Amino acid sequence: MFDFDLFVIGGGSGGVRAARIAAGLGARVAVAEEYLVGGTCVVRGCIPKKLFVYAAHFADEIALAESFGWSAPHPSFDWPRLIENKDREINRLVALYEETLGKAGVEINRGRAIMKDVHTVELADGSAASAETILISTGGAPFKPDIPGIEHAITSNEAFHLQTFPKRILIAGAGYIAVEFAGIFHGLGSEVFLSYRRDKVLRGFDEDLRDHLTAEMKRKGINFCFETNLRSIEKGADGLTAHFDKGDSLTVDTVMYATGRLPNTKGIGLEEAGVQLAPNGAVVVDEFSRTNIPNIYAVGDVTDRKALTPVAIKEGHAFALTVYGNNPVSPEHDDVPSAVFSQPPIGTVGLTEDEARIKHQAIEVYRSEFRPLKYTLGGSEERALIKLIVDRASDRVIGAHMIGPDAPEIIQGIGIAVKNGLTKAQFDRTLAIHPSSAEEFVLMPTPVES
Ligand code: NDP
Repeated sequence: MFDFDLFVIGGGSGGVRAARIAAGLGARVAVAEEYLVGGTCVVRGCIPKKLFVYAAHFADEIALAESFGWSAPHPSFDWPRLIENKDREINRLVALYEETLGKAGVEINRGRAIMKDVHTVELADGSAASAETILISTGGAPFKPDIPGIEHAITSNEAFHLQTFPKRILIAGAGYIAVEFAGIFHGLGSEVFLSYRRDKVLRGFDEDLRDHLTAEMKRKGINFCFETNLRSIEKGADGLTAHFDKGDSLTVDTVMYATGRLPNTKGIGLEEAGVQLAPNGAVVVDEFSRTNIPNIYAVGDVTDRKALTPVAIKEGHAFALTVYGNNPVSPEHDDVPSAVFSQPPIGTVGLTEDEARIKHQAIEVYRSEFRPLKYTLGGSEERALIKLIVDRASDRVIGAHMIGPDAPEIIQGIGIAVKNGLTKAQFDRTLAIHPSSAEEFVLMPTPVES
């Protein structure tokens, strides 16, 4: 009756996983992707960003090497070479994604697909395809506020392809993307300014992490313009001049906006088909990722649940098992570990101290702040912080937070413990690995606050 059992609009992390699993369960599946298969994470998000983070670290590592006896020639950095190598790797990954879909028997349509009705999709070549089920996985896109001169500002999308490396850059915002790119450009040699409407970075994270990262970024030389908003951007002979609402201004080569992302739901026929959208444009779904239209589902950033790649993948997988595996699975969104690849990086899972105080009657807070061994021979004053939040009644560890070298790698293991409800006593029964930073997670006998 239909051309396909499933038509997936958007070939990012969530859509690709859903398509592949559904095809493996016997469904006839097609995916439409208007840019490159792999989506934000592979093409202009997690992967290229992490490659840039690696690149940025070498400045500190080379400086540190001297304290261990190495003499290195003065290093120089070649931005076009980094871009070229990064693009080669991204193209390899995109090809791998396409190959995987092809091997699973999924048909790939290049170009924008638009829903014509609840079972029909119009393809870029003007033809139409019908499907019993439609999955919306179109992701999100950077949001820029509407101020005069905003057309001169880039977002993270363009930051991955800048032709000229900016000697001076102003980043607006203080969320994940802003602090990650501040560290990237600073490490690669830019003079970095970060402007934010409040007084410390990463709202929503544990306050100790926010204080610690703000202080470390300042110490490294990132210039903060707090409690201010950009009023306009003006292009002149010497670059871009940003005018702030308090009357001051700053001239830089590049202004980058990292002020959040909005779900991609415009112009793809969702409203016409009667799909319910939230005020911010996100597709509203139930616990099985189903919209108000029974045969239309949505996963990933377009649903505005938790905008993280592994979450989108889980949602896509759960959707496929639910609809094609006769096995209803509702993706869980609690105790999701996450990392911010700032410098120093953050790893976090579970509740912040403030959230724990609201949700639990009594908590205990364990905190350890220290200078990692790696920095003790050199002049680096960088410090690390590890923190556990424990529910006093059950002794369960309900939050674990770290900022410092390797925090994202370390928190993955701690995430297993938190997700599975381990107690503080069980943490303490585990022997330390010495010498390491991670050992602090099992070496904090006394609460500092309760
Ligand atoms: P975030 O929501 O993390 O941060 C947005 C920032 O912009 C906040 O500081 C916010 O301020 C500020 N802001 C929002 N609107 C305005 C405005 N109109 N004027 C001035 N400032 C504004 O968004 P990002 O763009 O950094 O990242 C988007 C999402 O992508 C993240 O939420 C995350 O889920 C995901 N991501 C995850 C990564 C990872 O896992 N490592 C890396 C990168 C992205 P305020 O705090 O006051 O609201």
